[in-house]
Amino acid sequence: MRTPLIAGNWKMNGLSADAVALADGVVQRVAGLDGIETVICPPFVHLPGVAGRLSDGIHLGAQNCADAGQGARTGEIAADMLADLGVRYVILGHSERRQFYGEDDATIAARYAQALGAGLRPILCVGETLEERDAGRTQAVVAEQINGVIDRLGSDTGLGHGVIAYEPVWAIGTGRTATAVQAQGVHAFIREILGERQPGLADTMRLLYGGSMKPANAADLLAQPDVDGGLIGGASLDAEDFAAICAAA
Ligand code: 13P
Repeated sequence: MRTPLIAGNWKMNGLSADAVALADGVVQRVAGLDGIETVICPPFVHLPGVAGRLSDGIHLGAQNCADAGQGARTGEIAADMLADLGVRYVILGHSERRQFYGEDDATIAARYAQALGAGLRPILCVGETLEERDAGRTQAVVAEQINGVIDRLGSDTGLGHGVIAYEPVWAIGTGRTATAVQAQGVHAFIREILGERQPGLADTMRLLYGGSMKPANAADLLAQPDVDGGLIGGASLDAEDFAAICAAA
């Protein structure tokens, strides 16, 4: 019922020739796979180069968008500029944006609204730090991050166009993955929150897991009933690994 979605977050990696080569490698290996949706999210400057290399079922994603429409926002990229390049998805609220660039729920909600307005599908990232998990605050943190965006949107319209990615901060780039049971537990909780907000949304909204997902652990994580896909960092920089994860979905 929910089409699996595997998204590669390339983060701040690669020069233009690397990006095109990686996109070609992914397309070559993933194009034949049925029943899944694939997204690759290169750095902004590589979007036009990569856009020309994609094929059916492999979509373009961006790693952020501005909190306002075109105008005086030096260094930002407006959502409609992304849509104009053929971008379909946009990652928002990634923990690296929260941690290194001070993005909070208010700016993330504004970015989310801009993305929806431009017809983009937001991939909203949520997740707790190790300290928060150890303090038993995982559910509280995740609920706050989701409700903090939904409340500010002012309306639930368009919410269903989005995707939520659960990315425990302690599992990102650390080689330490949440167990399938840990991931499933939080995903089921997120579905509960969504169900409270809007009946029907809980069943239809796709929830991705992110945090050191790789070919060796993907099948186990993706087999969980509430895990509908993955947001892949490091392993998405290797076309073979990324394709192996897509094949497991
Ligand atoms: P890693 O897969 O490198 O842990 O990164 C996950 C991530 O942050 C995806 O957005």
